[in-house]
Amino acid sequence: MSLSFNTTTHSKVTDAIMPYLKDARLVRELAYINGKWVYGNDDIAVFNPATNDVIGHCTQLQPPQLDDAIAAAANAFPAWRDLLADERAARLLRWHDLILEHKEDLATLMVLEQGKSLADALGEIDYGASFVRWFAEEGRRAYGDTIPSHIANAQLATLREPIGVAALITPWNFPHAMITRKAAAALAIGCTVLIKPASETPFSALALAELAERAGFPPGVINVVTGRGADICAALCRADPVRALSFTGSTRVGKLLLEQAAGTVKKCSMELGGNAPFIVLPDMDIAEAARAAVAAKFQTAGQDCLAANRIFVPRSGYEAFLEAFAGEMAHIKVGNGFEQGVTMGPLISHRAVAKAQEIVDDAVTKGARLIAGSQHSAPGPNFFMPTLLADVTPQMKVFREENFCPVAGVLAYDHLDELIPLANDTEYGLAAYVYGHDIRHIWQLLRGLEFGMVSVNSVKMTGHGIPFGGIKQSGLGREGSRHGFDEYSQIKYYCLGNL
Ligand code: NAD
Repeated sequence: MSLSFNTTTHSKVTDAIMPYLKDARLVRELAYINGKWVYGNDDIAVFNPATNDVIGHCTQLQPPQLDDAIAAAANAFPAWRDLLADERAARLLRWHDLILEHKEDLATLMVLEQGKSLADALGEIDYGASFVRWFAEEGRRAYGDTIPSHIANAQLATLREPIGVAALITPWNFPHAMITRKAAAALAIGCTVLIKPASETPFSALALAELAERAGFPPGVINVVTGRGADICAALCRADPVRALSFTGSTRVGKLLLEQAAGTVKKCSMELGGNAPFIVLPDMDIAEAARAAVAAKFQTAGQDCLAANRIFVPRSGYEAFLEAFAGEMAHIKVGNGFEQGVTMGPLISHRAVAKAQEIVDDAVTKGARLIAGSQHSAPGPNFFMPTLLADVTPQMKVFREENFCPVAGVLAYDHLDELIPLANDTEYGLAAYVYGHDIRHIWQLLRGLEFGMVSVNSVKMTGHGIPFGGIKQSGLGREGSRHGFDEYSQIKYYCLGNL
């Protein structure tokens, strides 16, 4: 293996990051391959979406360096697989503790590169770390089965084996937790990993690699490869030594990667887009429903696969709901994520702002009422104010597309029977929310809704112990819970006859 390492670090980090951090060594601009920090052939600028300032650069790896990274992960695999589960757990638990020790710095980096509020970023670090701890422990329980034999004098059983090298490709909206949710499961069961973070948010990933190094993971077990998404991902998808592909991102890119991975028949898990319905039942308190709907819509400025995109309200309470929703929405404070009291940051880029405006214009042209959301008060070019559209119809983009912006669309309905097909009228099937009390209605919805996760009377639904994932074009596979291991393991059946 010919690894061309340049171990210089912090070559171009601007003053925009360093003054904010207690531990400057968490800021890494180079890729992390086989336990070394590696420079590629070019830099990719990383922006603070709140200010549009360049806050640093990550490196763009060249194809031979990517081959080196894949080879490093493949070489590290047998020894990592053969460690005792307890020994792998010990590294993961140390990593978990280091993540929490450096929680403030990690959250600060996230605010700088992603834009969300500091409180949300701190929450994401806790959430992300919880997967590391949970899978460290669950790795000790990655059991196989014994099978009652149909063959005389034979013992039948299955082993659950780690699949090998796993490529983990992640988006920018949760730059920390989308990595740990994958990596913790893969590492605990004995896989080695190649992490490809979104180019918008590489620093959260590289800081995790720095902490993994301190936690004592052997070289090659965790690698972070940075560069142009399309090129790096195509190479990872086509590489035969990569046996598992775990992707979180848009449905468009997920489909592309599935095609690219087909040639080497990888195990693929896909956490893709969502278009969540939020259903208010007739017996629900309107003010409470509006509060919950605002919380479910505007997390991470609406850039959340779980965001409540389509809000269905009974006609009898429709106008009252719109008023309560607008009143609740007015409490959202938009601004730089570091500012005291800010609850919603910028969108990731100016392109995302343009897309949000396109969604509003499309809806208004087709007859929606714009109830609230004036862009005149936006505090910068990448900000989009919380927006409420009423009288939305299935013909509008706000209904059809994963809008991924702080625009809420509300519709009135008359009967539950008409509502279920309407809520299911989307190619997506990730999450749905139901608010109400009548158990017969709730049960009818639980059975009828075509979504991987349905949350009743709770905005919060995710956590380390639940199987997170979608159906239809929202994805394949599950993350978190014991099912999270399925994506990184394979079943080996053995028959011991006539011993
Ligand atoms: P994206 O699909 O544009 O990019 C995701 C990753 O794929 C990035 O690392 C990117 O660099 C890489 N990539 C690979 N090939 C690419 C190509 N040809 N073009 C562009 N990027 C390529 O997604 P995003 O914008 O980073 O994230 C937003 C999407 O992620 C939304 O659709 C959201 O619903 C989804 N998401 C899903 C979940 C879930 O758990 N289901 C969680 C978070 C985000």
